[in-house]
Amino acid sequence: MTVALHPSIDNGLKQGTGHFAGGTLACKCKDHQVKVAVKGDVAHNHACGCTKCWKPQGATFSVVAVVPRQNVSVLENGDKLEIVDASAVIQRHACKACGTHMYGRIENKNHPFYGLDFIHPELFQEQGSQAPQFAAFVSSVIESGVKPEQMAGIRSRLKEIGLEPYDCLSPALMDAIATHVAKAKAA
Ligand SMILES: [Zn+2]
Ligand SMILES: [Zn+2]
Repeated sequence: MTVALHPSIDNGLKQGTGHFAGGTLACKCKDHQVKVAVKGDVAHNHACGCTKCWKPQGATFSVVAVVPRQNVSVLENGDKLEIVDASAVIQRHACKACGTHMYGRIENKNHPFYGLDFIHPELFQEQGSQAPQFAAFVSSVIESGVKPEQMAGIRSRLKEIGLEPYDCLSPALMDAIATHVAKAKAA
């Protein structure tokens, strides 16, 4: 049995063009869609198993990437946006009507990822943005109801489509966080 991960990767990864110029993210509303402009390509795109990231109905993972916050701007129907949890490190701005998370922003200037917004590339109206590179917080899908005995199948399916499964972030991102912490301590 094939494990359903996320509709945008279940049939394999769709590689990016490598020169995606940016585009428009649209929420799932039938009308008065919230639209958010993103300049340039995304980075560190990945499947995420955490319980906080927005996922489409039925998906086990979210697909989430980062972009510089100055490259993100609300184009239309911004009055429909609300912050899901103002106390969370990442302030996720979601459409009040359909629940889609349009962008997540970190306001704490001391956070290692300050300056980056989190977005869901599947919401782009355009094709060609960077494909997912790895899978993060894989074990956390158990917190969303996945049975522990399903995990071997999920990890092998992730590997099969080319996403290395990690139970935290990727080594590059974990190193970036540790570097930030080390520098903060030395200062
Ligand atoms: Zn909406
Ligand atoms: Zn997540």
